[in-house]
Amino acid sequence: MMSNDCLFCKIIKGDIPGDIVEQTDSVLAFRDINPQAPTHILIVPNKVIPTVNDVSPDDENTLGHLFIVAKKLAEDEGIAEHGYRLLINCGAHGNQEVFHLHMHLVGGKPLGRMLSRNVREE
Ligand code: AMP
Repeated sequence: MMSNDCLFCKIIKGDIPGDIVEQTDSVLAFRDINPQAPTHILIVPNKVIPTVNDVSPDDENTLGHLFIVAKKLAEDEGIAEHGYRLLINCGAHGNQEVFHLHMHLVGGKPLGRMLSRNVREE
């Protein structure tokens, strides 16, 4: 596993605590510390890929696996039937805060439109 000192690497290595809900050979999933909905889980590949801009064909299986884990966790959380949102932020305009690619699984209430009116009009 490639790793560095980013926040999510520290959680993956166990150096700082995370509310872990799932671990597979290639990803770790844990609850977001600042949840935006009743379910807000981050699904993080062990491999450090800083942003979607850094994705390579070698990452195809790992990235596909994020969806497999997301689907399972949605079922585990009881939100699969009503639906949910999967989000990956990229870079400054995407408001990415942690530069270790991750998928947000958000659900448990109606989430409204994808972008707020304010954001769209900026
Ligand atoms: P992003 O803006 O897509 O990079 O998302 C980063 C997410 O990491 C935000 O939703 C934060 O609330 C979340 N976060 C920051 N620190 C922690 C932490 N220690 N444990 C869990 N989630 C965190």
